[in-house]
Amino acid sequence: MKSYKIDNQGYYGEFGGAYVPEILYATVENLRTSYEAIIESAEFKKEFHALLRDYAGRPSPLYYASRMSERYGCRLYLKREDLNHTGAHKINNAIGQILLARKMGKRRIIAETGAGQHGVATATVCALMNMPCRIYMGATDVQRQHVNVERMKMLGAEVFPVESGNKTLKDATNEAIRDWCCHPSDTFYIIGSTVGPHPYPDLVARLQSVISEEIKWQLAEKEGRDYPDYLMACVGGGSNAAGTIFHYIDDERVKIVLGEAGGKGIDSNLTAATIKCGSLGILHGSRTLVMQDEDGQIIEPYSISAGLDYPGIGPMHANLARQHRATVMAVNDDEALRAAYELTRLEGIIPALESAHALGMLPRMKFSPDDVVVLTVSGRGDKDLDTYLAHANDFNEKQ
Ligand SMILES: *Cc1c(COP(=O)(O)O)cnc(C)c1O
Repeated sequence: MKSYKIDNQGYYGEFGGAYVPEILYATVENLRTSYEAIIESAEFKKEFHALLRDYAGRPSPLYYASRMSERYGCRLYLKREDLNHTGAHKINNAIGQILLARKMGKRRIIAETGAGQHGVATATVCALMNMPCRIYMGATDVQRQHVNVERMKMLGAEVFPVESGNKTLKDATNEAIRDWCCHPSDTFYIIGSTVGPHPYPDLVARLQSVISEEIKWQLAEKEGRDYPDYLMACVGGGSNAAGTIFHYIDDERVKIVLGEAGGKGIDSNLTAATIKCGSLGILHGSRTLVMQDEDGQIIEPYSISAGLDYPGIGPMHANLARQHRATVMAVNDDEALRAAYELTRLEGIIPALESAHALGMLPRMKFSPDDVVVLTVSGRGDKDLDTYLAHANDFNEKQ
């Protein structure tokens, strides 16, 4: 049977691998040879699932959205990752990686963050585990994401503003890798999405796979069958999508539909639609699709949603798109905004702008009334209120 899972070389088709500086070979190799045995062990699973339950608030509900179902002519369930502690799915991965770091005897945590959401999740688990934490963040992003910077500091993390390049996510990533090169033995680098050198994409996907593990039994309870007809999610680097599809990836009864950030449109130069607009390159230690010019210089991505403007894409998702296992849509800013207002008015749920890119695909779908659709609401919209308010006049008429 054809498989879309990672192969034993660390690749998804032609994408993936580990392209790291020589000085990190031993560290990455150590992680590669130990991660699977640790995170699949009974002891790890027990600690991980206890924290997911008692600290993060899992299982997250699978909610039948009746008014949205009526509007779109299907049976629509929302997987409510917005209800997790810290407001998104990112906490699942942060808890898992800090437990892994401790089992590997690491004493210091580093991470990079763009919008600040991964930085907050990492700072949160470092407070929980009493571990020193340094978060690299582009100086431009430090200014744009002031509230998250203050949250990280309150949690006890050191936020390090990066002044090189465009002073955004890519520059923060470079600086985090530089730090890792200087402290390979005692430092664990917590990566926030299904990106980076092997084994990170697979590590993050497995830690987030709790999402589809829950969908299975929740659907069995509610629908009498443990698989949906459609799974829908937004993709930045790909972690909430990876978690949503993990246990269904080779089950071709289940159609996978992914929404990336179109920004102002894929022909506008203001876009973060990496799958539609990117080309093969190496970014963040991985061979994947990258937004780059003819000289291989990274093109700064744009999206109204800070969590989706990443110039790469996880290798798993690049392969799913290449093999036509997943349908990928670029959802523009205005479509996402409209979808966020719609969910708020019909169901009383204010989604994160990232999640609104998954919702923004619904008008383009052709469902039959019996289709069971599970759409992951990756996070809550509190952090995006200023953006929503700035566009309120366009949407405040009754939907
Ligand atoms: C970070 C973030 C995303 C994008 O990251 P993925 O790794 O693609 O899931 C999506 N939604 C929310 C709420 C986020 O915070």
